[in-house]
Amino acid sequence: MPLLRSLRSLLLVAALPLGAQSADLPRIIAQARAAAPPVLPQPRRAPDLVDVTRLDPSLRLDLRYATADNFLHAQVYTQAKAFLQRPAAEALVRVNRDLKARGYVLRIHDAYRPWWVTKVFWDATPPASRAYVADPARGSIHNRGCAVDLDLVNLADGQPVSMPGDYDEMSERSHLDYQGGPAEARQHRDLLRTAMEAQGFKALAEEWWHYDHASSPEYGVLNLAFEAIGGH
Ligand SMILES: [Zn+2]
Repeated sequence: MPLLRSLRSLLLVAALPLGAQSADLPRIIAQARAAAPPVLPQPRRAPDLVDVTRLDPSLRLDLRYATADNFLHAQVYTQAKAFLQRPAAEALVRVNRDLKARGYVLRIHDAYRPWWVTKVFWDATPPASRAYVADPARGSIHNRGCAVDLDLVNLADGQPVSMPGDYDEMSERSHLDYQGGPAEARQHRDLLRTAMEAQGFKALAEEWWHYDHASSPEYGVLNLAFEAIGGH
């Protein structure tokens, strides 16, 4: 990895907690909830968000933003639910089927994310550390319901498998080309990548847990609350 990128990663690790523990978080949340999403070109498809566990109850959930166990140290989701647009959800079910045949099951950390939450991430992060958070002026693929953050659980013992670093860790260990740490952890990371890419998901170079589905350009940025999505 280029030296500059390594240095940037180190700086991010040092800088982020200062902003993330901001006493201003309640104000940042209130302002984001009241803000209007950007006006973007009309999407080609109407939203069709589905609860992925309705399609496949064997999918595991560990929705960190529905708890305080995340980089903000605060709960921002009102429900621990994973919604994706239907083509992405159906592709994820196929990935899970393939992985179960190999002794693993997917565990989801995040999926559809309302736009206002992306704005909270941005506003709560110091400007120098914003390389790892999406700009709310453009919205993110999570806001379109076509991105998913996930890892693997071993079916034999029910435990999450080792990965090169932690979910949402802002360091070079998160990069897909990171060659440090135990070989077994890198093999788990690469197994997840192979299985996801086989079903139309694209990996992100700097976050081993994040995948975008190929249908994302067809959907718009959404600011729907989980409660407004419905039960299908
Ligand atoms: Zn993500």
